[in-house]
Amino acid sequence: MSSARRSLDTLAVHAGSPRPRVLGAIVTPVFQSAMYEDDGAGVYHDIPYIRLNNTPNQIAVQRKIAALEGAEAAVVAASGMAAITTALLTVLRSGDHLLVQDSLYGGTHAFVTHDLETLGISYSFIASDDPSSWEAKLRPTTRAVYVETISNPLMRVPDLEAVVAFARRRGLVSMTDNTFASPVNFRPVERGFDLSLHSGTKYLNGHSDVAAGAVVGAEGLVLRVKQKLDHLGGSLDPHACFLLERGMKTLALRVRRQNESAGTLARLLAEHRAVSRVHYPGLPGIPDTTAPRGSSTAWAAC
Ligand SMILES: *Cc1c(COP(=O)(O)O)cnc(C)c1O
Repeated sequence: MSSARRSLDTLAVHAGSPRPRVLGAIVTPVFQSAMYEDDGAGVYHDIPYIRLNNTPNQIAVQRKIAALEGAEAAVVAASGMAAITTALLTVLRSGDHLLVQDSLYGGTHAFVTHDLETLGISYSFIASDDPSSWEAKLRPTTRAVYVETISNPLMRVPDLEAVVAFARRRGLVSMTDNTFASPVNFRPVERGFDLSLHSGTKYLNGHSDVAAGAVVGAEGLVLRVKQKLDHLGGSLDPHACFLLERGMKTLALRVRRQNESAGTLARLLAEHRAVSRVHYPGLPGIPDTTAPRGSSTAWAAC
């Protein structure tokens, strides 16, 4: 059966596992080996070695993430920030300009504002809910537009369709940090984003026992990210890959339940006299009540 016809729950359990099974093992064993026999015929990036992101646990978890996001390929990294910084440094070089959402995860905000300019890369913040203002921020050197599907911590939801359309019209690489949505609520690549980024430390792993990240997209672009990661060295250890793969088996169940619980809490808090403001995109009457379009769950019920 092709993965397109399997449900997200089934993909979460089965996608990516080695076939045939290793000695019949139902679960991908931990391959705690840094290097492997090599026939010497391949190029540098193909040498089987943990830092080169091509060993069995890395391959299994990468395939599972790609299948869950409906994308061709994924590469895992040592943390969400390793994934995000490596992806940005793959797409941008000295002299380039980045458009970036004004409401951002703190680590990403710090990287953009503290580190990009030292590398000769400039940036402008954009109001993610006002697409008509983006054109004025463009420069001839603009290469990419970066948003978060649901921003951390303010839960802002950009006009995601407008981001994709704008990027296509202007030849920019479109990138979204999909950590908070997870592939259960939104699959960016299916909706036209070039790259989807994750902190696997959060919902993907789901058990607070691992730091991990992922970059998801078309094979060619993900290969470029992988080769940059090979150089920068932020690869994910096999045991962490094993824990991430195991955690993701329950992703769909967990996130649906989390959607329900968060929706209940948000509605209760919104009516509470001691609470002045609730930031939750599923509540009626607050900015960004439009859920990520194409969301696979009934966002209104969240
Ligand atoms: C936590 C987080 C990150 C960073 O992930 P780490 O695994 O801590 O490096 C990036 N983006 C978002 C939205 C996050 O919540």
